[in-house]
Amino acid sequence: MLKRLLTYTIMPTLALIASIAQAQPMLEKSFSAGPADQFVVPQLAKRQLRLADIQGLLDSLATSKWVKRQVIGQSFEGLPVYRLSVGSGDTVVLMWSQMHGDESTATAALFDLLLRVEQDDAWRSAWIDQLTVHIIPMVNPDGAERAQRENAQGIDVNRDAQALQSPEARLLRQQAELLKPDFAFNLHDQNDYYAVGRSAYPATISVLAPAFDVTKSVNASRQRAMQVIAQLMTIMDTYLPEHTGRYNDSYEWRAFGDLFSAFGISTILLESGAYFNDPERQVARALNRALLGQALLDLASRAYENADVERYWQIPLNRNNGFHDLLVDGVTVSDNSQSYQLDIAIRRSKDRHRGMIESVGDQSTVNAFQRFNAAGFDYRMGRAYAIPATGLSLQHADYQQLLQQGYSHFIGAAEQLQINTSWPVVINPKYPPGARPQADQNASFLLAKGSAITHAVLQGQLFTLTEASR
Ligand SMILES: [Zn+2]
Repeated sequence: MLKRLLTYTIMPTLALIASIAQAQPMLEKSFSAGPADQFVVPQLAKRQLRLADIQGLLDSLATSKWVKRQVIGQSFEGLPVYRLSVGSGDTVVLMWSQMHGDESTATAALFDLLLRVEQDDAWRSAWIDQLTVHIIPMVNPDGAERAQRENAQGIDVNRDAQALQSPEARLLRQQAELLKPDFAFNLHDQNDYYAVGRSAYPATISVLAPAFDVTKSVNASRQRAMQVIAQLMTIMDTYLPEHTGRYNDSYEWRAFGDLFSAFGISTILLESGAYFNDPERQVARALNRALLGQALLDLASRAYENADVERYWQIPLNRNNGFHDLLVDGVTVSDNSQSYQLDIAIRRSKDRHRGMIESVGDQSTVNAFQRFNAAGFDYRMGRAYAIPATGLSLQHADYQQLLQQGYSHFIGAAEQLQINTSWPVVINPKYPPGARPQADQNASFLLAKGSAITHAVLQGQLFTLTEASR
C-alpha cells in the first residue's frame, strides 16, 4: 500500500477517505494518463454532453487535413449523426459512443483522440497507413439532449440491434455492414457503484469481449478482442492499477456488442466508471483517451497478437452495488427504551440533488466514496419546520441554527420559502426519515453528540454544523 501511495499519490486508501470524509468533492487534477494527456479538449470536461457541446468541434473538423467528416443519418427527431474517419489502412476500426444518451465520458475522450490526430505527428504516423478508423461520437443525440439512456422513442438502442425499430440502431447496424470493421470499440458509462471484485476500489474502467452465443464460445475473433484488452491492461497497470473490472459475458442477443461479435468483428466493450471525488468522470475520460490512443498503436503494430489471453481472464469481475455514496458508520439509534447501533448506507441521485437511505445494518462488506465514523453519535430524526404563511427568507446562518435546533426539513407552501444557502433544503419530503432510519427514506437527518446536534445529512450530503457560515 505504501508503494502504491508513493507511486500514485492520488490513490486514496480507505483510511484517507475516512480522514477526508467531510471534505467537499473536488476534481482529481493531479491525475495523469501519460502522453495522451497533452491532447485534451477543455470545454468537454463535464459529465453530460449534448450535440450542441460537440457541434463546434464537428464543424472545425469539416476542414481537417486528416479527418473526413460525414453525416451518416438522422436521429428519430432529425438531429444529425456524424461519422469521422481517419486513415487509409487495410485494418478497419469502428468506434462509437453515447448510444446511451446519458453516457458521455468516452465521447469527450474521442474528441481528445481527434485532437491528437491533428497535433501529434509521431503518434498519428505510427498507425495511419495501417488503419482506417471510423468514429461515431454520438449515436443517440436525442437521448443526449434529454440526458437519458434511451432514444426519443424511449427505446434502448443497445437492445434494438435485432428489432431495429430505432433509426439510431438501424444506422449503427448499416455502418457495420457497410464498413465491415475488423475491430469495434463499443463505448459506454456504467453507474458509480461497481467495485472491482471484492476490493475497496471502484471500477473506473470496465471491459468485456462480448459473447456471440449462449455457450459463450471463444472463436478467433473473440480471442483477438480478449488479446487487445489484455494488451491494453498495460495502460491500466501503469496509470491506475486495480481499478479495472470485467463484465460477465452472459449473452445478450439484442445488444450490439454481442451481435457484432457474431458478425466476426473483434468487439471491445469499454465502460467508464467512477473514481473518488470525480463526479465529472475526468479520470475515466483520461484513461479512455490513453486506452484508445494505445489501442490504435497496438492494432497497427499487431502487438496484441503476443498478448496472453489469461491476462484478460485475470481481470476481476465487476461487483454491482459494491459502493455507496455515503456511509454513516456505527450511529446509535434510540427508540423509547431500546437502543442499537447501525450503519446507514446512502445513495444520491445522479444530479446529486436527492439522497435516499439505501440500507441500514451491518455495511462492513461494502465501500463508500465517503464515510463518516459515527461511533459515539446519536441519530436524530429531524422535526418539520412549518413555513410561515407570511413567507420566510432563509439565510444560511439561520438554516444552520434551525438544524442545530433539531429541524431537518420544511413543510408548507414551498413558494413561500426563499432559499439563500448552498446547502440542500428539504421541503415536504415524500418519505421523511422516521425514528428508526431505514431503506427508502429520504437521507435527511441529524447527528448529535450528547445534547449537541453537530452534523446534518441533507439529501445524502454530510455537513458539519459548527463550520463557519458560507
Ligand atoms: Zn451504455
